[in-house]
Amino acid sequence: MLEDAEPSIDWDALTFSFKQTDRMYLATCKQGDKWQPGQMQDFADLSMSPAAGVLNYGQGLFEGMKAQHAADGSIVLFRPNLNASRMQGGARRLGIPPVPERMFLDAVHAAVRENSRWVPPMGKGALYVRPLLLGSGAILGVAPAPEYTFLVYVSPVGPYFKGGIKPISLKVSDEFHRAAPGGSGGVKAIGNYAPGMIPSKMAKSEGYAEVIYLDAVHHRYVEEVGAANFFCVRDGVISTPELTGTILPGVTRASVIEIASSRGYEVREERIEVDYALDADECFCAGTAAVVASIGSIEHSGRVVEYGGGEVGPITMEMYEALTAIQQRRASDEFGWTVAVE
Ligand SMILES: *Cc1c(COP(=O)(O)O)cnc(C)c1O
Repeated sequence: MLEDAEPSIDWDALTFSFKQTDRMYLATCKQGDKWQPGQMQDFADLSMSPAAGVLNYGQGLFEGMKAQHAADGSIVLFRPNLNASRMQGGARRLGIPPVPERMFLDAVHAAVRENSRWVPPMGKGALYVRPLLLGSGAILGVAPAPEYTFLVYVSPVGPYFKGGIKPISLKVSDEFHRAAPGGSGGVKAIGNYAPGMIPSKMAKSEGYAEVIYLDAVHHRYVEEVGAANFFCVRDGVISTPELTGTILPGVTRASVIEIASSRGYEVREERIEVDYALDADECFCAGTAAVVASIGSIEHSGRVVEYGGGEVGPITMEMYEALTAIQQRRASDEFGWTVAVE
């Protein structure tokens, strides 16, 4: 059977890009009804009305998580319950019926299980899991759609940033902001991401890996690195922007905070002035796709600051090692964060 065959992939050449896999999960729900479990089907295009709420008004959310081969031979997910509850929060913000946590988790497990031949060997990458929740029913006025689609597809991925562990160069955006108070920056609304594409592309054409966004009110405090959370280390104290509503509450961010605190580091969630970050000893960003990525330099208004002389800083390295060891079950999972796919 096709599903049992080893896919013809060069696992060492994986990048963070879409590769079609075998199966996907799909469920639908009418506004006002309760979600009923959906089913797995072959990977296929979707069909929906041109008047679908998501196509016209961006009523949609996504999630991102990874399944990996672990040291004990199992395939594991990392804290998938946090993705389930984050998507529920986003659904409430966008007027979408929230998907029950159990249904979300069952869908993710089934999507990984039925595509398990696409999970890269340990250390070569991961199976990226992409849940989507969309207003798929037709609606002309600006209002919540009459019907919703929840689906989960997967794709094998390699490193998010080209160059792997090598520290990345970033540029503070002086022109663009990602999110404003009272908006949707704190949830994974699909509409938050298209406006970041041109800023990111402009930065890449100048040789940077991504942009750093400052807050939209004062244009003074660091918010995020593209689609990853920001951390800096100064005199052994680890700081990350506090969750003010404009910052996406990352699962990786929460995990780094807990790991660092448990190891005795002082961790502060606070407003971080861009000048404080520029004078830090180490900076890194954290996210499911990026994992923990060392920041080698930041450009801001013509000033370029380099960290660690091209080397990954010691605390950044410690966080990367500690996190990935738990995720791959190479270390004991003291927090109970990994979940084997049944
Ligand atoms: C998804 C995302 C992150 C990282 O969240 P994780 O749960 O760690 O993957 C950070 N910032 C933005 C804007 C995001 O969309």
